[in-house]
Amino acid sequence: MENCIFCKIANGVIPSATVYEDDDFRAILDIAPAHKGHVLLLPKNHFDNLLCADDDIAAKALPIVKRIANALKTVTGCDGINVLQNNGTAAGQSVFHLHIHIIPRYEGDGILPVWDQGSYADGEAAEWAAKIASALE
Ligand code: AMP
Ligand code: ZN
Repeated sequence: MENCIFCKIANGVIPSATVYEDDDFRAILDIAPAHKGHVLLLPKNHFDNLLCADDDIAAKALPIVKRIANALKTVTGCDGINVLQNNGTAAGQSVFHLHIHIIPRYEGDGILPVWDQGSYADGEAAEWAAKIASALE
C-alpha cells in the first residue's frame, strides 16, 4: 500500500517513537495521545481493519497487546487500560490500516464517552443471538 502512512511507519520507512517491534508488528506512540503513553499496535502487512485481517496476525496481536498493557501499567501507574480497535468511519476509524489502541486510564478522567445502555424486549435477545450465531456458520 504505497500511500498508507501506517504501512510506512510499521515498516520503518517513516520514523516513529517505537516501543516494540518483531517480524510482524511495530508498536508506536500515538502522535495525539489520549494520555501520555497511548500506544498503537500496527501489523507490518496492510489490512484495512480487523474484519479483513489474516487470522494468524489477529491471533498474534492479543498477547502483544497484553504485554504492552502490563508495561504501560508499570510505567504510568495508571488505574486501568482501554484496548480499542475501530473498524469503519462509523466506528471512529480515521486511518485505514489495522491498528489497536492501548490507552492508560485514570479514575474519573472522563476521556472516553460511555454509551446509553439499551435493552431487549422479551425474546428479542434470543432472536438476535440466533441471527448472529447463524451468520457465524
Ligand atoms: P483511529 O481513529 O482508530 O483510526 O485512530 C487513528 C490514530 O492514529 C489516532 O489516534 C491518531 O492520533 C493516530 N495517528 C495518526 N497519524 C499518526 C502518526 N503519523 N503517528 C502516530 N499516530 C498517528
Ligand atoms: Zn497500510
